[in-house]
Amino acid sequence: MNIKINYTKGTTPVIGKDLRFGTTFTDKMFEMDYEKDKGWFNPVVKKFEPFSLSPATLVLHYAQEIFEGQKAYKWKDGRVVMFRPENNIKRFNISATKMCMPNVDEKLFMEALETLVWADRDWIPQEEGQSLYIRAAMIATDPVLGVRSGSQYKFFIINSPIGCYFLEGFNPIKIWASDTYVRTVPGGVGEAKTGANYASSLRGAMEARERGCTQALWLDGQEKKYIEEISTMNVFFVENGKLITPKLTGGILHGITRDSVIVAARDLGYSVEERKVSITEFCEGVTSGKITEFFGCGTACVISPVGEIIYKDKSYVINNFKTGKITQHIYDTITGIQYGKIKDKFGWIKVIEPRE
Ligand SMILES: *Cc1c(COP(=O)(O)O)cnc(C)c1O
Repeated sequence: MNIKINYTKGTTPVIGKDLRFGTTFTDKMFEMDYEKDKGWFNPVVKKFEPFSLSPATLVLHYAQEIFEGQKAYKWKDGRVVMFRPENNIKRFNISATKMCMPNVDEKLFMEALETLVWADRDWIPQEEGQSLYIRAAMIATDPVLGVRSGSQYKFFIINSPIGCYFLEGFNPIKIWASDTYVRTVPGGVGEAKTGANYASSLRGAMEARERGCTQALWLDGQEKKYIEEISTMNVFFVENGKLITPKLTGGILHGITRDSVIVAARDLGYSVEERKVSITEFCEGVTSGKITEFFGCGTACVISPVGEIIYKDKSYVINNFKTGKITQHIYDTITGIQYGKIKDKFGWIKVIEPRE
């Protein structure tokens, strides 16, 4: 299937100063539709514009939606690159299957990403920490109110020039471990990147902010005992010099940054262990000084050091609220690869070949 090009070339980007996450968009988008008997059709890169949807559209009522978040970078030598995009494509289709939605052909998805990112290359900010955030999503578009999975879908990709995800930048954040709310439950869709998981995390995130915290730290949905993740990030901590991350037990998203941290850390000589970690064990480790660093990781922020956690109204401060050495080392390594300053020996960088 060939992607149609239907936008005015040579438009000048208007990247404002405000690169707060997800507030500015480029002037183009990719769009493609699906019908049960036809499969995917009409793939097009076109002007960024609103959709026209029936108020009865399925996704608006029953949340059958999935998405991906990834980034493109423009290197000093002018090359435009993406970071492990094939992993996002694979995970998108895993999410699709979990949410009873059709898969997107991997090659077509990649071609759509490359075509759109290349078309938007002049929109990619080049300063340290800046990038083009790429949001692919799929929604059920049947105009019916019956509760069932759709037979019509829309797939789209939009791009947003961004700076750092958190207002704090690469500075430690404070988080609240919720023992009242849960993000996902066993047997639920915690492993799918779906808006539904975010809807159920809003209330907890609001209470976190009321407590002066940036985000909520989610515990497992059954016993509220084991650490799972921060809203948009997987977590790691350093215990006696070793990196520990919660094991993927079903409710945790399979983060690509998480995987990159594991691979890069081992390569740097750190040992990494994946296991269940209870919140009480964690708090005791911070108190006794065994746990010396804690960070979240995800595409948007890459790595975000955590300086303090609140659990059952008690505060646990990690590393005097400073970014730890190992956290910094891993951050420098991964961002070094992403910005072309460190050799990519893992094959994570995909250079977008110049095209029409
Ligand atoms: C996207 C996401 C992450 C991070 O995944 P990356 O692939 O590293 O960006 C972590 N947790 C949740 C719930 C997410 O949606």
